[in-house]
Amino acid sequence: MCESVDPDEPCGPPGESHVADSWSALGRGFSRRSLLLAAPVAAGVAVSMPAGTAHARAVPLRIYRGNRSRREVALSFDAGADRGNAEGILDLLGEHGITASFGMTGPWVRRNPDLAQRVANEGHHLINHSMTHRSFVRGGPGGRALTGRERFWELDQADAVYQEIMGVSSKPWFRPPFLALTWRGAQDCADRGYDHIAMCTRDSLGWKRIPKQYVIERCVGVAANGASMMFHVGKASTDFRALPGVIAGIAGRGFRMVSVKDIVRVE
Ligand SMILES: [Zn+2]
Repeated sequence: MCESVDPDEPCGPPGESHVADSWSALGRGFSRRSLLLAAPVAAGVAVSMPAGTAHARAVPLRIYRGNRSRREVALSFDAGADRGNAEGILDLLGEHGITASFGMTGPWVRRNPDLAQRVANEGHHLINHSMTHRSFVRGGPGGRALTGRERFWELDQADAVYQEIMGVSSKPWFRPPFLALTWRGAQDCADRGYDHIAMCTRDSLGWKRIPKQYVIERCVGVAANGASMMFHVGKASTDFRALPGVIAGIAGRGFRMVSVKDIVRVE
């Protein structure tokens, strides 16, 4: 099992700012510099911002929902456990001409170089999903948050595997294990070159082995401009069995399916 997010909680640990308050945070004492740095994605893109003060560091963008002016929905697939259904998922995406996002851990890429290379060669969007899949918020000894140095290590090691196996870097994209990331953790990611934090608006819950029909309903029902959905490639997940219905349902509602990178592109 790759993830264990409580689906009833918003993406991220309790108490973190969330998409709903992103814009009010922007209006509360944000420096002009921060606003300017965030400006490229400000047009219709929902991101979480800190309630902090001005700083000259890179501004991490926690991306939940993308551009609301385009009829596009992002599909993303996390890989950290077994080979699972990655092959079938890639086949299906290929048949439908969909370029999606893949959040792969370093060890998964190393164990499955053929699949990882296929993901890259077929033009999918690559997202660093850490090395050990420890929570950045409480994955340290005794349940403490990872230190900045540990976070850097997770990002660097996974990226080294990406470069070795696929010949490309995962920067600037990161998907936090368990979707858990504090503002400080996000700042560490940005400092290391990962200022695009791929969250989501819908966790399919396939990893909880809910019946495929529920996965389809959960995902198709919330399709909206710029929505972002998270699935898993692992065998334990019901996502693969649901995927044909998810794709048909979302397409039937008139949405194009794209990667997370696509929903934040600025035209
Ligand atoms: Zn994961």
